[in-house]
Amino acid sequence: MTSSTYDAIILGAGGAGLMCAATAGQLGRRVLVMDHAPEPGRKILISGGGRCNFTNIHSAADRYLSANPHFAKSALGRYRPADFIALVDRYGIAWHEKTLGQLFCDGSARDIVAMLMAECDRGQVDFAFSTDIGEIGHADGRFHVAGYTAPALVIATGGPSIPKMGATGIAYDIARRFGLKLVEPRPALVPLTLGGEDVLFRDLSGVSAEVIAQAGKTRFREAALFTHRGLSGPAILQISSYWRPHTPVEINFTPDAPEDWLCAIKRDKPKATLKGAVSMRLPDRLSLALVERLSGNEANWGLMPLADMKDALLRQIGARLGRWAFQPNGTEGYAKAEVTLGGISTAELSQRTMEATKVPGLYAIGEAVDVTGWLGGYNFQWAWASGVAAGQGLAAR
Ligand SMILES: Cc1cc2nc3c(=O)[nH]c(=O)nc-3n(C[C@H](O)[C@H](O)[C@H](O)COP(=O)(O)OP(=O)(O)OC[C@H]3O[C@@H](n4cnc5c(N)ncnc54)[C@H](O)[C@@H]3O)c2cc1C
Repeated sequence: MTSSTYDAIILGAGGAGLMCAATAGQLGRRVLVMDHAPEPGRKILISGGGRCNFTNIHSAADRYLSANPHFAKSALGRYRPADFIALVDRYGIAWHEKTLGQLFCDGSARDIVAMLMAECDRGQVDFAFSTDIGEIGHADGRFHVAGYTAPALVIATGGPSIPKMGATGIAYDIARRFGLKLVEPRPALVPLTLGGEDVLFRDLSGVSAEVIAQAGKTRFREAALFTHRGLSGPAILQISSYWRPHTPVEINFTPDAPEDWLCAIKRDKPKATLKGAVSMRLPDRLSLALVERLSGNEANWGLMPLADMKDALLRQIGARLGRWAFQPNGTEGYAKAEVTLGGISTAELSQRTMEATKVPGLYAIGEAVDVTGWLGGYNFQWAWASGVAAGQGLAAR
């Protein structure tokens, strides 16, 4: 074997590529990881506010979006959050659960990258950083990339989210080059923008509230945040993955309010104003904006005592606050999207090994594939699990 000849070339030194390389290397395969970046794991380093939300203990296939919702079950079932936690523990990396099963490093995301590089080292993995992939040759069952050659090639170059971190859509170009189908990619876990009548809400930039956000039948209860362009915060990022253009996002601003709560306040405190009553459940600025929008041009209901308002009207207002329809005019796009929905179609891949059924020796893993997780550690768990599945597949060749 010459120095430019390997058992597998892995394109992309992100979470999925490093995990795949470490697995195959430790199982005895000679592996090269290639990346155009000068260093590994750039998205890991910026993830979770620098603390990397490295998994979610509730990871299961129903928390991932894909044209085939069953595809991820095999890999996720064979490499579980507990497996990654055991690895993190072996390296003495301290972690904590923040909320909703999300696990973060106590220290820095750098610890995760260092751990993955140490695992690659144990597998004697070689690296070619700052390397352009260029044209990929394929002849006689061998792949040729940037002067290196191997009988197996793994696409682990992620999706185009956050181009300024070096993200590109090269995974899709490679897939097309080999005749693999794509599910149309689009930005996900991304802030939504508001236009038209809703621009008024931009004045609320910085205000947040716990809400239930709903698109179609899917709903998430978490914080929503108004921004100078529209809506963000975990509830909105989550729902953005399910939102389709020209459809509304419904926000329940009063998720814990009992039915007829405004009538109940009216009975207890008849002199309270509508704005005062709404402020009991929502931040002041938000209450004011919502009540003003509800009043329209007719009257300023905000300052009206509840005693002067009919129960039927209060019920109507309560219902609107529990089901406020925003009509987003778009998203903040790949520049702000944490992940990319869609990608290389799972119909082209073995769910066990992630190998392309039509092109023996070609694999695709991580975010490049049409499997996208919820916010909260799910996407890394998919990167680890699909990387391990492909690494074991490479070793079994
Ligand atoms: C700001 C932010 C925060 C996030 N926080 C979390 C979190 O806390 N928890 C979580 O689960 N998920 C998080 N995610 C999502 C998570 O980072 C990704 O899902 C995950 O990194 C995907 O791993 P991957 O290995 O498939 O791709 P990537 O990590 O994107 O790795 C792809 C690699 O391929 C290389 N590459 C790309 N194009 C080329 C090219 N043309 N030539 C050569 N090399 C190329 C890149 O340099 C990169 O090293 C976050 C994402 C962002 C943007």
